[in-house]
Amino acid sequence: MISDLGRRGADHLAELSSTLLDILLPPTCLLCGDGIERGDLCIDCEVSLCGSWPALVVPCQFCGMPRSKLPVPPFDQPCGGCPAKPYPFKSVTPMGIYQGAVREAVIATKRAAHGALASSLGVRLGKLIQRTDFVDQIDCVTFVPTHRWRRMIRGGPSGAQRMAISVGKVIKVPIIESLTTTRWVAKQSLLADEKRELNVRGAFRIKRSYAWQRSLNLRDQHILLVDDVLTTGATAKESTSVLMQAGAASVRLAVIARAVKR
Ligand SMILES: [Zn+2]
Ligand SMILES: [Zn+2]
Repeated sequence: MISDLGRRGADHLAELSSTLLDILLPPTCLLCGDGIERGDLCIDCEVSLCGSWPALVVPCQFCGMPRSKLPVPPFDQPCGGCPAKPYPFKSVTPMGIYQGAVREAVIATKRAAHGALASSLGVRLGKLIQRTDFVDQIDCVTFVPTHRWRRMIRGGPSGAQRMAISVGKVIKVPIIESLTTTRWVAKQSLLADEKRELNVRGAFRIKRSYAWQRSLNLRDQHILLVDDVLTTGATAKESTSVLMQAGAASVRLAVIARAVKR
């Protein structure tokens, strides 16, 4: 009874604080900065984000591309656009196509100042994962690593880390920092497609602290790997290979955006 009253009191206090903050600092859209009454995005930005996926097009679960090439094969089979050598991750769930508002949002999350936007996108990605038929199989959420110098330059956690934290909270599974870099990695976005695999080859490893602690062993874990954008898949493939070599049972990929070749 007392704990219930205490909890209700804490809820009222949190609600009051939130109302006072809204009066002192009126909320603004995390993407365009326009004033909003509630939530974290204005209606225009919300619609632009949700509308990035062409209506009635279900992405291929193996490569994340819209299944538009005819004839369209059954959903449990690779689409006409899948790479000849299948990706090592079991599936990919993209929230949108890397264009328009989604592209703007992902680029903005590269800066630490937009950490709240990265978290907000992660919540949306988490809700998408929550609706999949594999959500109950996921044991933990992790994210592609960023070199510590890049994190220092950026001044905070990477966008992918913030997104992964949000996804983990939404689907209620532990978030683990399982991967780290072994060396400096040039930005993939600045490299030609054919140079991206070489750029990340051998660049990641399992964090030693996790390898030492039995409770954080990755063996037989079904892992959800989170990243901001899937382009050639080089970074996600390398990350997946390291996790699988560490004994993971499966790795599924979840991304905010899928880059679609023009
Ligand atoms: Zn907006
Ligand atoms: Zn495909």
